[in-house]
Amino acid sequence: MTDTAEFVSIHRMTPKVKQFQLKLIDSSWDFKPGQHTVIHFDRDGKQVNRPYTPTSLPFNSGKEFTLAIKRYGDGNASLYMHNREVGDNIEVEEPHGNLYLRNFDRDVVFVSTGTGITPMVTMLKHYIKEGRGKAYFFYGEKTQENIMYRETLDQLEAENKDLKVYYSLSDEEWKGMEGHIQEYIPKKLERFGEKDFYVCGVPQMVVQTEELLKEKGVEPGRVFTEGWERDAVED
Ligand SMILES: Cc1cc2nc3c(=O)[nH]c(=O)nc-3n(C[C@H](O)[C@H](O)[C@H](O)COP(=O)(O)OP(=O)(O)OC[C@H]3O[C@@H](n4cnc5c(N)ncnc54)[C@H](O)[C@@H]3O)c2cc1C
Repeated sequence: MTDTAEFVSIHRMTPKVKQFQLKLIDSSWDFKPGQHTVIHFDRDGKQVNRPYTPTSLPFNSGKEFTLAIKRYGDGNASLYMHNREVGDNIEVEEPHGNLYLRNFDRDVVFVSTGTGITPMVTMLKHYIKEGRGKAYFFYGEKTQENIMYRETLDQLEAENKDLKVYYSLSDEEWKGMEGHIQEYIPKKLERFGEKDFYVCGVPQMVVQTEELLKEKGVEPGRVFTEGWERDAVED
């Protein structure tokens, strides 16, 4: 079952990513930050469905939320979304899924690449509001201009002594960390057993991070992912 939402504002975040603010017309939602919706639309007589993760906590009495969507040149849904205008409507499913915060007393570690940052940003904001430990945010992208939420993350870090943010670039030389983001987890963290881990992004990164955490003695029940990544790597 879907609900209808209206595009109330659209703006460009990075050269390839737009943020969409959507307002539900006849419904309101009470989802957990980190869970994803599914958009539905019709293309050439065929139904297209794609998951996207709200990047805001539900606001305006659960009626509004934001999505951040990266455009792929030949992408079906991402192009469709990038061609929408304020005032258009879209069919959306009430959010569900495995990524949401489980424990507000333990330290948390968020690891993501690319648009995998969308559930992490919203869970981080949730944790800053209600969490009682430290938060570590690891984010990998190819180049600086593609880093999503850099201003938000830098500002949150400046305002919260218990938050540490790490970026790594895999395709550009800069003054910061370079290479795959997961390589920095053992270099930057200690006491792995005291932390919960949330991981989202390219499947190879998710699987390598799971394996690295296993080697560090982290129980599998402390590592939260969407859950489909290992199948994607083994395909
Ligand atoms: C749970 C979940 C949450 C998601 N949340 C978000 C989100 O918040 N924001 C967001 O932008 N995306 C998100 N995605 C990805 C999104 O669902 C689509 O897969 C993506 O937008 C591409 O869809 P498309 O129809 O445009 O491309 P398709 O028509 O499916 O594919 C077109 C082309 O794009 C390429 N392509 C598709 N996806 C990727 C990719 N991830 N990396 C590299 N190339 C790719 C394909 O190889 C193909 O050549 C999420 C995915 C999942 C599973």
